[in-house]
Amino acid sequence: MTRGPDDIRDIGSHPHVDRSPGAVNRAPTRAAALALLVRALCLVLFVISACRDIELPEGEYGHTSDDQRPLYVLSGSIWASPVIPVCWENPGADSTERGWVADAVRRTWEANSGVTFTGWGPCPTSGAGIRIRIEDSGPHTKGLGNQLSGMAAGMVLNFTYQNWSTVCQSQREFCTRAIAVHEFGHALGFAHEQNRPDTPSWCDQEQGSDGDVTIGAWDLDSVMNYCNPNWNGNGNLSSTDIIGVRSLYGSPQRAALDGRGAYLGKAFFFRGGEYVRYDWATNDVDPGYPASLGLWNLPGAFLDGIDAALNGSGSYDGKAYFFRGNGYVRYDWASGNVDPGYPASLSAWNLPGDFANGIDDAINGQGDFAGKAYFFRGGEYVRYDWASGNVDPYYPQPISLWGGLERLW
Ligand SMILES: [Zn+2]
Repeated sequence: MTRGPDDIRDIGSHPHVDRSPGAVNRAPTRAAALALLVRALCLVLFVISACRDIELPEGEYGHTSDDQRPLYVLSGSIWASPVIPVCWENPGADSTERGWVADAVRRTWEANSGVTFTGWGPCPTSGAGIRIRIEDSGPHTKGLGNQLSGMAAGMVLNFTYQNWSTVCQSQREFCTRAIAVHEFGHALGFAHEQNRPDTPSWCDQEQGSDGDVTIGAWDLDSVMNYCNPNWNGNGNLSSTDIIGVRSLYGSPQRAALDGRGAYLGKAFFFRGGEYVRYDWATNDVDPGYPASLGLWNLPGAFLDGIDAALNGSGSYDGKAYFFRGNGYVRYDWASGNVDPGYPASLSAWNLPGDFANGIDDAINGQGDFAGKAYFFRGGEYVRYDWASGNVDPYYPQPISLWGGLERLW
């Protein structure tokens, strides 16, 4: 029996395939497996744009059944790589102000998604990335997302407010930070939320370029919404802004791991496809870093970044675990290689609910909590017992149980 592309089309045209145990119809099974594989690849590889093309309706403003993700997106303007160069066209004696901008962006879009803005130096004559002009006029971008790449004065920011928005003169840091978060939202491909066709009539502030895809419900609290009762969201992303940017650029891929074996006394900090090695004695990053994550001999998609890292405990001493999406690998400190049989499914950790789809961070317990590992996802965490190989009863619990931690996370 040959199986051509028709096998895949069939699953769409005949959705009611007999699924009784006696049914012998291998083609749909194969097609379903393919569909599952594509979905798994989407998750594992974070081929966000490709997956979006499959899942989101094109053209006429469409809504998906997923009601969680806001933002008004110009789908063709999403940057192919989440590592986006930024430079200043006319930096002067304003390093403090430029620092506010970089810091505000770091604490919002970067801290909450896979996006990294790199560079931040004076602009070369030409080159890809976002070119920022400092000017006392209305801050704006000359397009959305990657339309700005290499464009002269693609983003204009104001540091002095002598001519525009003079009320900001008495609160320059607040204004500069809040505006930066909004303008960098445009630079990521997000139009004004109030331009969406489903904007309620009382919010009559339409301005600038439109997106072509709305995702999720209209969001009054979006930093991209002029009708937000807080001006530019006070420079804070709404919870649904965060879900939206993650859906397009992935989750933050940062992790830290204490060295073991020959690397006792070192700590490793990962971000995207790079890492640095830190020395506890010198309190400095060792020379030669950042280096490529490829030096860890991780497989495939793990080389683009990891969600979390954790040292093994108990009978798993000497191992380290790297997590990405719904998969993980086990690394052996002594051999410097990933053990055979990996990557494996995160389901092996017996994590509950959404935790099985991916975790944000992981850490081992100490003191009374030695022998436990903690996995974090969104606003929740679970406590895992190394000896039993299971999550302890009564988890997940809210991160608020970690005292003031929730204010930072
Ligand atoms: Zn705007």
